[in-house]
Formats: sequence, C-alpha cells, structure tokens
Amino acid sequence: MTEQNKSKKRGHCIALFSGGLDSALAVLLMLQQDIEVTAITFMTHFGCDLGDRSSCGSNPYPAAEKYGFNVKLMHLGQKFIDIVEKPKFGYGKNMNPCTDCRILMLSEAKNLMEMVNADFIITGEVMGQRPMSQVKPKLALVEKETGLKGKLVRPLSAKLLPPTDPELNGMLDREKLEGISGRGRHRQIELAEKFGLDDYPNPASGCLLTDSNYSNRLRDLLKHSQQLTFEDLNLLRIGRHFRIDANTKIIVGRDEGENNRLMAYKKPHHRHVEAIGIGSPVTLVIGDTSEDNMKKAAMITARYTSAKSEPAVEITFMDIDGQPKITVPPAKDEDLKYVAI
Ligand code: SF4
Repeated sequence: MTEQNKSKKRGHCIALFSGGLDSALAVLLMLQQDIEVTAITFMTHFGCDLGDRSSCGSNPYPAAEKYGFNVKLMHLGQKFIDIVEKPKFGYGKNMNPCTDCRILMLSEAKNLMEMVNADFIITGEVMGQRPMSQVKPKLALVEKETGLKGKLVRPLSAKLLPPTDPELNGMLDREKLEGISGRGRHRQIELAEKFGLDDYPNPASGCLLTDSNYSNRLRDLLKHSQQLTFEDLNLLRIGRHFRIDANTKIIVGRDEGENNRLMAYKKPHHRHVEAIGIGSPVTLVIGDTSEDNMKKAAMITARYTSAKSEPAVEITFMDIDGQPKITVPPAKDEDLKYVAI
C-alpha cells in the first residue's frame, strides 16, 4: 500500500469505506483536496465480509492500492449482534437495523479519529439513496447520537447539507464537494470516469439482514434462543431450515458444499443424519433429539435423497453408537411447508 505523503496534507479524515463506488468516491474527493485518509472497512456476521460481493461490503484493497490510502479492517462482532437483537431505532423492511448500524460504525470511527488525532469523518452516504438510513432527518439523528455534529462530512451530498467544521475552517473547499441526492448513479459514474476508477462493484442491496428469507430464520432464532451465538448465526446461512418444535431445529444441506460446511460447523451436541449409499444430504438435528424428533429428521432427510420417490428410504443416525438405521417414508412437501423457515 502506498504511504500517503503526510507532509503536504491539509488535514486527516477517517473514512467509512465499504469498497463500493460511493465510499471510494468520497475518499477520492478527499485525496483531491490533499486530505490524508485512513479508511475503515467494517465486517459483521451478516455478510459484510470481503469475499461476499452481494453484501454492502466489497473488497476494499484494489481502490486503496490504486490510490494509495490505508485501510483498516474492523470486525464488529458482539457489538453488532447486540444491536441486531435490540435496535434502539428499530428495523428496516427486514431485520436490518440500519440506523443503529450507522451509529455503531460511526462511534467506532470516532474512537479511531480521537486515537489518531484525525480531524473529521467521511462516509459515502448519498442523501435519499436508501430509504431508512440516508434521509435528511436520519443523517442528523445519527450525527446527534454519535456526538459528531460538525465532524461528519458526506462529500457526495455535502452541498445539500449544512457546512461542517472542516468546510467552515477552510480545511475543505465546499465548492469541490458534491450535491448528489437520490438513487440515480449518473453523477457517480461521471466522477468515477474522471478519477479513472473502473473496477467497482454493482450497487449492493445491503447485508444479509435485508434479505427476507434470512430475516425469517433470524426472527425464528431470536424467538427460540436466550442469546444469539456466533455458531447459530453461521448456521443460518447454510441449508434448508425446519423448526419442528420450540427447542428443535433441523438443517438439511442443499449440495455438497453445504454438506461440508454443515459438517465443519457440527458440534458434539448436534446429531448427524444421512442416507448411506445413495445421494443424500447431510442433516443436523439441533435441540431435542427424542425418538419422535429423530424420526421426523429421518423423514425430512429422505425427502431430499435421490430415493425421494420411493415409498421408504433407509436413514442412518451417524453419530449414535452402532449407527442405528431407520426406514421411513420421505416427508411430503405439504407437511414441510408448516415447519420450513
Ligand atoms: S444493510 Fe443496514 S444493517 Fe446491514 S450493514 Fe448495511 S447499513 Fe448496516
């Protein structure tokens, strides 16, 4: 990574940097004004990891390498899970607590700003681009909650917002900032061309918490767990899920990759169910492994084997002593619809 030439810099900002186009442009607008940039890319358990371009996070390194600014990775871990469980400002359309999320990320950025003695924070937010977190009153609320009034610059929409401290004290030239609003990307694409930024991801719809299927699974987990664990959250992303009673969940792999991942996440208290010798998913039973529940797990597993059209399928309880077998009819689709989550 190229070291920025600090001697020439007029100031220093901390950038919330997802690696997407808007946050990259916000950084470039700062570099253009000779501001040193330290970027932070946040990660959570909900898809904003570097390998997942469907999330609101993308690989931050190509732009950082190309334009020569530093990126720090920060995992929000339990702090993020806490706001997902109890968001002060509620959820968006699904389980996405976008306002609390912005507040958390900005609070972390503020800590870093104070630690390294930076002057202000920037984000790639565009006014009116996302319904929940980027309308004017929400932007102001976030500023108030984080105690960042005057220190939070949104370079892409700055001309539509009140001047911030670095604009008022001459560190930033307000005229060189932008006045973009809404969902269109015309101006951003124009700026990308101007800066020679050509490898940027398509706009992402958000993290996994904006996905309705994932959110249903998460709601179910919250309803039935005392506390969310990293292990439970990792499993939410894999396979078909069935809630067969308040304490028991069955997860069925959808392909070889998911079968392998389920085995990797399997804990000693999980039961592994599978049909041997035919095409079969890996099934995990989590919770109450009563005889009745194990039979249900066997029937659900049978439904997804290569013998699903047969009247009966032999299923093995893989990690019970002696690997007992049971022969069951495959579960019917109409029965599964009441338990699928
Ligand atoms: S979609 Fe919302 S909750 Fe998810 S990471 Fe983005 S701002 Fe945060």
